[in-house]
Amino acid sequence: MKEAKENCVFCKILAGKLPVSMIYEDEKVVVFVDLEPVNEGHLLIVPKYHAPYMKDVDTDTLMHMMKIAQQMNAALRKSEFKCEGVNLFLADGEAAHQSVFHSHLHVYPRFVGDGFGFKYDKSKHFVTAPRGRMDEIAAIIKKHL
Ligand SMILES: [Zn+2]
Repeated sequence: MKEAKENCVFCKILAGKLPVSMIYEDEKVVVFVDLEPVNEGHLLIVPKYHAPYMKDVDTDTLMHMMKIAQQMNAALRKSEFKCEGVNLFLADGEAAHQSVFHSHLHVYPRFVGDGFGFKYDKSKHFVTAPRGRMDEIAAIIKKHL
């Protein structure tokens, strides 16, 4: 099963069973260099316990991940890496391009012309819906809060 701790590459890293280029560690998270970077400097912020999806990460740890992301963002911007901007990306679920089922936050440098980006059909995505539909969408989400 893809969500199983036994198959989890991040748990193997946390257990010292796989090599890693560690950047930071505290009581809640580790931060290390991504094996397959978008651009040099791409790092991952990873909870220290196995949590397949965002719903499985406790709120304090999620908040802490964002705090550490702010520090990593600042470090990237001060670094020698080409970094004109920074993306944060959390893929939650296979359809959202999650490939390691131990929830994690990507932080990676961006620069004009780096060639990376979301590909989309402009006739299908970023098309503003009528206000009535937007109100319906708001109501649907509110119902589940
Ligand atoms: Zn894991």
